[in-house]
Amino acid sequence: MAYYVDRNVKMTWWEKSYLPEIIRGMYITSRHFFLNLFGFIPFLLGQKKERPIFTVYYPEQTVKYPLAYRGRPVLAVNEKGNYNCVACGLCEAACPAYCIDIIPGSNPGKQNELERWPEEFTIDMSICIFCGFCEEACPEEAIFMSDMCEFNMLDRKQMKYNKEQLAVSTEDLKDRIEFTRQMSGKWNYSSSSR
Ligand code: SF4
Ligand code: SF4
Repeated sequence: MAYYVDRNVKMTWWEKSYLPEIIRGMYITSRHFFLNLFGFIPFLLGQKKERPIFTVYYPEQTVKYPLAYRGRPVLAVNEKGNYNCVACGLCEAACPAYCIDIIPGSNPGKQNELERWPEEFTIDMSICIFCGFCEEACPEEAIFMSDMCEFNMLDRKQMKYNKEQLAVSTEDLKDRIEFTRQMSGKWNYSSSSR
């Protein structure tokens, strides 16, 4: 079955000028700036209990990232404990940074058993650019971008994550899985015989 993406989105001349988005961006930035600058006044006057500032005192405080956030990629492990991945290699081919390495395992001809799985699956996080192409390319809902962004090492070699380090349960990924399904709908994938 063939799929196509409709890229013929028509913008008005006003949208093409980019002015609405520039004005919107300036408004949001200015609002944050002035709230941070003068937000302490109601607090000092005792009108508010907390100072409405947007500064996050990291690492003591953290923010909840939006669902669209692309942190490090992870591999989905289903409720049976198996990786959703069938080692097809599409993510490896789609990766512009060449940081995915897969060694497939297969079990041909045996019924009711796993046919294909990743014997080894590594992602070199030191060169991953968090583009999300692997997630987009995967036909099996097996690799997803997560909200994990806090990882640092003194040795680059340790940044090569193996499949055990990449494993995350589908239960923990359910919001991201749902999000990617909705995004696929928005991109207007539709079946076509062309
Ligand atoms: S996020 Fe991009 S660079 Fe990172 S593994 Fe996926 S395709 Fe490669
Ligand atoms: S993660 Fe998806 S695209 Fe990559 S090898 Fe596994 S099934 Fe194929």
